[in-house]
Amino acid sequence: MIPTLGQGFDVVVLGGGNAALSAAITAARAGRRVVVLEGAPKFYRGGNTRHTRNLRCSHDGSAPTMTGPYEQAEFLDDLYRVTGGQTDTTLAELTIARSRELLGWMDEQGVRFQPPLGGTLSLGKTNAFFLGGGRGMLNALYRKAEDMGVVCVYDAPVIALDIQDGYFVSATIRQAGSEIVVRGKALVAAAGGFEANIEWLKKYWGEAAENFLIRGTPYNRGDVLRMLLDKGIGAVGDPTQCHAVAIDARAPKFDGGIATRLDSVVFGIMVNRDAQRFYDEGEDTWPKRYAIWGRLVAQQPGQIAYSIIDSSSIRLFMPSIFPAIEANSIRELATKLSLDPGRLEKIVADFNAAVRPGTFDHTVLDDCRTEGLIIPKSHWARRIEKPPFYAYPLRPGITFTYLGVKVNEESRMLLDGGKPSGNMFAAGEIMAGNVLGKGYLAGIGMTIGAVFGRLAGEGAARHAAN
Ligand SMILES: Cc1cc2nc3c(=O)[nH]c(=O)nc-3n(C[C@H](O)[C@H](O)[C@H](O)COP(=O)(O)OP(=O)(O)OC[C@H]3O[C@@H](n4cnc5c(N)ncnc54)[C@H](O)[C@@H]3O)c2cc1C
Repeated sequence: MIPTLGQGFDVVVLGGGNAALSAAITAARAGRRVVVLEGAPKFYRGGNTRHTRNLRCSHDGSAPTMTGPYEQAEFLDDLYRVTGGQTDTTLAELTIARSRELLGWMDEQGVRFQPPLGGTLSLGKTNAFFLGGGRGMLNALYRKAEDMGVVCVYDAPVIALDIQDGYFVSATIRQAGSEIVVRGKALVAAAGGFEANIEWLKKYWGEAAENFLIRGTPYNRGDVLRMLLDKGIGAVGDPTQCHAVAIDARAPKFDGGIATRLDSVVFGIMVNRDAQRFYDEGEDTWPKRYAIWGRLVAQQPGQIAYSIIDSSSIRLFMPSIFPAIEANSIRELATKLSLDPGRLEKIVADFNAAVRPGTFDHTVLDDCRTEGLIIPKSHWARRIEKPPFYAYPLRPGITFTYLGVKVNEESRMLLDGGKPSGNMFAAGEIMAGNVLGKGYLAGIGMTIGAVFGRLAGEGAARHAAN
C-alpha cells in the first residue's frame, strides 16, 4: 500500500483519464494535496482517453495546429444539429467558450499536437490532433501531475463511497486484496460511463448486448456512476443512448480501439445474416452517418451485418486492421460468410439492376443512385460486378454511454431535487450527458473532459481551501 493513502487528501479524484488528470493538475496547481485513484493497472491507465486522437475546440485561426477559425457560434450550431437541441444550453455554451483555452492549457502541461490533418476526415479546422495520440497526451498529463506531487494509485478500483447528505467523506478502494479508505475534503468523479458493463447494457438492449463489442477500456463498468446515483445524485441523459459505430466483427471484445472501425459501408451494400439489405447505405456523407450504423446493426438478427463491395472500391476507404474476406464470385463470398448463396446473388443482382447511371464522386452527395428498390441507395450506388468481391463482417461497437450525473456550471454535482452538493464535482464521460443528450460531434468527448475537469479541479481546490 502507498504509505500516504491513510493520511487523507484535499482532493480525491476517481478515474485516470483526461477528465481526471485535468482536474488533478488544476487542483495541484492551486496548491492542494491530490490523489488520483485509477481502477486499472498502470499499463491500462487512462481508460478510453488512451484511444483518442483529437480534441475539438473553438479558435481564432492563429493556432499552427489547426486551419481556419472555428467560431463559437459555428461550434454551437454543430452541437445543436447533432443533438437535435437536446443539450443544456448554458453548459454547452460554457464548454465551447472554455474550449478556446484548451490548446494553450494542454501545451503548458506538455501535450503536443500534430500539424493540421487533411484528407477524408475533414477535421483540420475543428479538431487538433495529439502528437502520439491519446496515450502520448496522457503520458504528458501523468508526468506533469506526478511532478507536481499528485499521488497516482493504480489497480485501485473504488468499491464504495461514503456520502452523507450530499457531502463526500471518503472512498474505499480495493488493493491487493485489502480495502483501504481514502478520505478527502472534496471529490472529483471522473470514472467514465458504464459501456463495459454488459449486464447493465442488457437492461436496455436485452440479450442483444451480449453481441456488442466495446471499443474502449474494460474498466469503465459504471461502478462509481451507480454509487453516486444510488446516493441521491441527480441523473442526466437517456440510459438507452450511447455512441455506437459499426466495427469489424473480428475485433476483440474490449479495447479494439480505432483500428477496428470500418468506413466501407457507403461504397457497397450492407446485408444482414439473412442476406437482406436493411438501410440506405448512401443516405448522407459518412462523417454524418457513421455513428448510426452501430445501432442499425444492433437491430439485426444476431447483431451482425456484412459490408459487400467489389474491387473498384477496395482502395477508397481506410481499411480495418483485419483483411477483407475475398472471393471471385458472389456465390463463393456468400459461402465464406455462411450466408445463403442464392439469396445474396439475388440481392446483388436486384441492386445492380436498380443502379442508375451517374458520375461517381464519393467526396460529395453524387447522383449515383438506385431506382425502384424498397430500400434505396441514394448516393454512390455503383454496380457490384468487378471481381474479386470483398466483405467485412460488422458488429455494434460501443464507444460510450450517455447516462450520467447532473452538474452545474462549476461542474458541481446536483442532488436529486437540484440542490448543489457541498463538495462533489464530476467531469468527463460520467457527466457528458449534460451536454450530449444524443448524437455526437467528433472530438467533443475530450473537450467535455478537459473543460469540466479543469472546472472540477478549480471548484474542488477552492472548497478544500476553506
Ligand atoms: C476507440 C475510441 C476512440 C475515441 N476517439 C476520440 C477522439 O479522438 N476524440 C474524442 O474527443 N473522444 C474520443 N473518444 C471518446 C473519449 O475516449 C472519451 O470521451 C474520453 O476519453 C472520456 O474521458 P474520461 O476521462 O471521462 O474517461 P476515460 O478516459 O474513459 O477514463 C475513465 C477512467 O475511470 C477509471 N475507472 C472506471 N471505474 C473505476 C472505479 N470503480 N474506480 C476507479 N477508477 C475507475 C478507468 O480505469 C479510466 O481510467 C474515443 C473513444 C474510443 C473508445
